Amino acid sequence: MSKPDLNCSFCGRPKPETQLLIAGLDAHICNQCIVQAHGIVLEETTEEISGTSSLELKPPKEIKAFLDEYIIGQEASKRVLSVAVYNHYKRLLQDKTKGDEVEIQKSNILLVGPTGTGKTLLAQTISRFLKVPLAIVDATVLTEAGYVGEDVESILTRLLQAADYDVERAERGIVFIDEIDKIARKGDNPSITRDVSGEGVQQALLKLLEGTVVNVPPKGGRKHPDQKFIEVDTSNILFVAGGAFDGIEAHINKRLNLQAIGYKTALEQREVDKENILQYITPRDVRSFGLIPEIIGRLPVLTHMTPLDETTLRMILTTPKNALVKQYIQLFQMDGIELQFTPGALDYIVEKALQYKLGARGLRSLCEAVLNDAMFELPDSDVKKLKITKQYADQKLSKIELPKLKVVS
Ligand code: ADP
Repeated sequence: MSKPDLNCSFCGRPKPETQLLIAGLDAHICNQCIVQAHGIVLEETTEEISGTSSLELKPPKEIKAFLDEYIIGQEASKRVLSVAVYNHYKRLLQDKTKGDEVEIQKSNILLVGPTGTGKTLLAQTISRFLKVPLAIVDATVLTEAGYVGEDVESILTRLLQAADYDVERAERGIVFIDEIDKIARKGDNPSITRDVSGEGVQQALLKLLEGTVVNVPPKGGRKHPDQKFIEVDTSNILFVAGGAFDGIEAHINKRLNLQAIGYKTALEQREVDKENILQYITPRDVRSFGLIPEIIGRLPVLTHMTPLDETTLRMILTTPKNALVKQYIQLFQMDGIELQFTPGALDYIVEKALQYKLGARGLRSLCEAVLNDAMFELPDSDVKKLKITKQYADQKLSKIELPKLKVVS
């Protein structure tokens, strides 16, 4: 027989009024309080997953290992980015624990390197790793407010769209600004139109990069004048800017040569790897290329991308988690067809990509050209196996004009 004076230590209900009373060391809990407590636990933990409290500091090595799964080579950039992202997150955490006296600056990033070397892919992979929304914008479409084109605020409209209009998520998202080099000031060509799309845009971008509260038209610029604005704080948005900076090598070379004159002794003179001058890039070179110092200051993490050589292209075809070859094998598998590529065929595709300077993007167009007939013919045929040899690839590619693939991006 239970003692009549037993009751729930949480709600105080006497035992007869409960369905179940569980005894602890020196307390009891009733079934209703268990259900309620369970609800609280669930609420708290899901909030942790989706809300701001979900920030989990991942060490740079873990970030880099994730990037390695998707991006071949580009070791320098991957290391620099892993640290930048790590520090960015530390900064976000610091904001929450008031009382820290040293203010950590934003780690916005500037990626310099030829087109098609993985700059966008890096930004995409980081957003995937962090599970934050990503907006990819092209700097060339941006203009100063009042001119034909898109205001810089449109960047945040895109980010809001990517975040499904969840402002809090957008405020912790990533913005990739492509072709930032195209808004550089051209000292030798100071036409008025240049300035509209150039320095004026750089000025407009400044506040955004640093962190400010912007009234963002939710759908699309001035086309919806009567739409309500959404306030977006850009302080915690990570900006990654990328550009090919064609011709910046000349600026780097010039600086290196000047330095070489300054330090004449052989010991002090660094051995310069002329094949990859970009690795010596400094903010000073970016400045002499035409970005204004304030912009450079707000993109403090500067790194370069290496051109893709034969080995890298070959690996891009087969190694990343979602490598092209793996994707095609999967596509064929869904039709019950086993697809194979011989090493010779893969080498041949890489050879063509290099020969016609198609870059990594070209690999996709080449594969598409090689496999298109098969993807059209085989799904409702009896063929259950397809082996792509060099000869097969050559036969398919001979039917198209390869240089034309270059325009595909
Ligand atoms: P960028 O932004 O530098 O012009 P992208 O990131 O858009 O270049 O690269 C284009 C495509 O080429 C990517 O979608 C990817 O498939 C492939 N690619 C480029 N570089 C790499 C790399 N280093 N590793 C894996 N894939 C790459």
